[in-house]
Amino acid sequence: MAENIRVRIAPSPTGKLHIGTARTALFNYLFAKRFGGTFVVRIEDTDKERDSADFTKDILDGLKWLGLQWDEGPEVGGPFEPYFQQERLPTYEKFADQLIEQKLAYRCFCTKEELEAERQAQKAKGQPPKYSGRCRHLSAQEIDQFQREGRNFAIRFVVEPQSVSYDDLIKGKLEFDASLFGDFVIVRSNGTPLFVFTNVIDDHLMGISHVLRGEDHVTNTAKQLLIAQALNILSPQFGHFPLIFNADHSKMSKRKDPVSVTEDFRNIGYLPEAMVNFMALLGWSSGTDKEVYTMHELIGEFQIERVGRSPSIFDPEKLLWMNGYYIRHAAVGDIAERLRSFIVDEKLLTGINKDPDYYLQVVASVQDRLKTLAEIEPLINFFYIKPDYDAKLLIAKKSDKDKTVLALKTAQTVLDGLKIFSLDETEIALRHAAKEAGLKDGELLWAVRVSLTGKDASPGAFEVLEILGKTESLARLASASKKLASSS
Ligand code: GLU
Repeated sequence: MAENIRVRIAPSPTGKLHIGTARTALFNYLFAKRFGGTFVVRIEDTDKERDSADFTKDILDGLKWLGLQWDEGPEVGGPFEPYFQQERLPTYEKFADQLIEQKLAYRCFCTKEELEAERQAQKAKGQPPKYSGRCRHLSAQEIDQFQREGRNFAIRFVVEPQSVSYDDLIKGKLEFDASLFGDFVIVRSNGTPLFVFTNVIDDHLMGISHVLRGEDHVTNTAKQLLIAQALNILSPQFGHFPLIFNADHSKMSKRKDPVSVTEDFRNIGYLPEAMVNFMALLGWSSGTDKEVYTMHELIGEFQIERVGRSPSIFDPEKLLWMNGYYIRHAAVGDIAERLRSFIVDEKLLTGINKDPDYYLQVVASVQDRLKTLAEIEPLINFFYIKPDYDAKLLIAKKSDKDKTVLALKTAQTVLDGLKIFSLDETEIALRHAAKEAGLKDGELLWAVRVSLTGKDASPGAFEVLEILGKTESLARLASASKKLASSS
């Protein structure tokens, strides 16, 4: 293989970066990098009505965020510029003209209504819908006449009945009956070319060696092979990945399922490393039990032959687990930095900027609990803002108000006497004091922890004591005592 490997993705900017497109991008990227090849991004923006520059930006931002930096394409340029199909229209026109001249394509003047009537008639007869080929044999005079009338025309590709087959890198040998295609449209009546046509041309002009894309394109590939043949150009090799489904095997839908890489994952605190790892396993497996892979490892191990044929199942629980795993295993400084953009409370931000070391300790105390970065604020706000809670929360299960009052008093006295306020010192002292006072460790430590955090779940009492420090901890214990005393 080696240096001539050139792959591409051709996203259409009709929506945000979809998880399926991202997985296709990842597999193309891995395939290219493994063989020292080139990964190209080419924007398929031929559909003016549905395309938007915002979607292009979202797609490119999402790819960069995932670490799938392309070697050629938008922003970076390359030897085959432009990489936006909208800027390549004259090229497609030239090839379309060539096909028409060779009678391998023709102008179709059928109106929408005529085509619809044809479809209805076929339906009534129980036939599958297929263009009749009516305009294939228009005379030169008829064409002239239509054009003089200013009629719009689509361009259709001539399909002769035949069998088309190819060896798919993933699915093996595939065979299609081209007589079912009918003469399909390659340029719409509004003049915009279809990707089934433009991609054949661009893949050829850009020297693409392998087209690796979703399984929904297997029939398009058969059509594209016919187009390439008509244009007398060599086709790349094709490989089609299985589609990604929900756990219940339904199709993932834009409306109800998390499919947008930027919106549903990046913006709520998934790490790109976790996403990449997770997406790699949507269809590919190394054949071992290993589940955690860095991008570097994936590049080393990815083999297209090991992409399966059965549908990939999107398991959100597994992704969440993986994200938590990556958060736990990252350096605290790294996670602390990434968490910053998920913190919006001004008080927290001020505190973080004032004392970066304190912030690191705070993050370290909750790092293991985080499943996504967006969960951070409620987990750490009490480190910066005095907690507000119901006095009843101070009372541990199976304890009562009197014992809790005693627990808080005991804790205050013993903590006040400590010279060193470290995790070990506070633990030894509080456990000992609980015993002396005839309290269970649990009921005393619960009351202490709630006084400090105001929460029923948080890092343990000793850890929080150490981070908050003696003065602040004692102040919070004192207000807890007051709160409890004045509660009914
Ligand atoms: N825009 C198509 C898609 O994203 C690209 C098809 C192709 O890769 O040729 O599915």
